[in-house]
Amino acid sequence: AQDKRESLYVLSNWAGKYFKEQLWETEAGKSIGLSYFKERGYREDIIQKFDLGYSPDQWEALSSAALKAGFQKEYLKEIGLCIEREDGNIYDRFRGRVIFPIHNLTGRIIGFGGRTLKTEKSVPKYVNSPESDIYHKSDVLYGLNFAKKSIMDNDTCYLVEGYADVLSMHQAGIENVVSSSGTSLTTGQIKLISRFTKNVVILYDGDAAGIKASLRGTDMLLEEGLNVKVLLFPDGDDPDSYVQKVGSTAFREYLDAHQEDFIFYKTNILLKDAGHDPIKRAEVIRDVVQSIALIPDEIKISVFIKQCSTLLDIEERVLLTELNKMKLDKA
Ligand code: ATP
Ligand code: MN
Ligand code: MN
Ligand code: MN
Repeated sequence: AQDKRESLYVLSNWAGKYFKEQLWETEAGKSIGLSYFKERGYREDIIQKFDLGYSPDQWEALSSAALKAGFQKEYLKEIGLCIEREDGNIYDRFRGRVIFPIHNLTGRIIGFGGRTLKTEKSVPKYVNSPESDIYHKSDVLYGLNFAKKSIMDNDTCYLVEGYADVLSMHQAGIENVVSSSGTSLTTGQIKLISRFTKNVVILYDGDAAGIKASLRGTDMLLEEGLNVKVLLFPDGDDPDSYVQKVGSTAFREYLDAHQEDFIFYKTNILLKDAGHDPIKRAEVIRDVVQSIALIPDEIKISVFIKQCSTLLDIEERVLLTELNKMKLDKA
């Protein structure tokens, strides 16, 4: 099994090199892929650092190159670079896409994300490698290998939605950033972060989906004892589009000025939705207390109860009673 894993690593590494060569050294790669990255504002050093690549818009470009290089069909399938047809022949998963290799903590390539260059809605924007013996999605955070030192130095980790957000923030000099790649956070990913810091700032997209995701994935972070802050971008922007728009200095200022503690953020969002409806306000109170109850630290709990009692305009005593009831139910 170890041998098989090692072979998959070697194959992934080879594929990473292949996509990179296609980007930098072929006419199509340069005129389509590289110019796409440059139009998005990425510098060459960033494109190099993240091993970005390009997959030719052909059915069997990588497949035939890999077979020629001596790699086995079984491994190409296992790692999801190729898909088998009914007649037994294989074709490429990534075609005509720009490629974001996914690295593990030690920097080895374990999978790929490919972004389409087309604008049609019928084409999926991203195609990703499937799970394999070397790529366990729930234990991987995109960019962590490049971020871990900066996460420790700054004792904070920024959490973003997409590959592009990680790249643009690095380019702006903010390197303590990782992405869950569009899926909701797993406990494995959270444990991974908490090896490096207890402070997380969630920078989700400024759209309805981003707001929803920021409320959903967060309970687990609180349960793991992490301090969670949230920051939203103006409607329609994500960290990538915003930093490319305003530049790195204004972006940093925005980060510093708009971070808000998750519990307060959640309270305010829910309150706004509830308006003056007493039933809805009661639900908000329960919902907020439920989040506070997840926090393992009693002192932090008291601080939140106190401040939320002001925000919710309700006596501390009521919140505490509800909190203790919830804890009893859980125990
Ligand atoms: P871009 O800036 O290139 O348009 P993005 O990262 O802003 O991309 P989002 O739509 O915000 O794209 O999605 C966030 C992340 O979710 C992506 O980076 C990708 O990892 C993942 N994702 C998005 N669309 C898909 C899809 N159709 N299939 C699988 N994963 C996806
Ligand atoms: Mn989005
Ligand atoms: Mn986005
Ligand atoms: Mn984006």
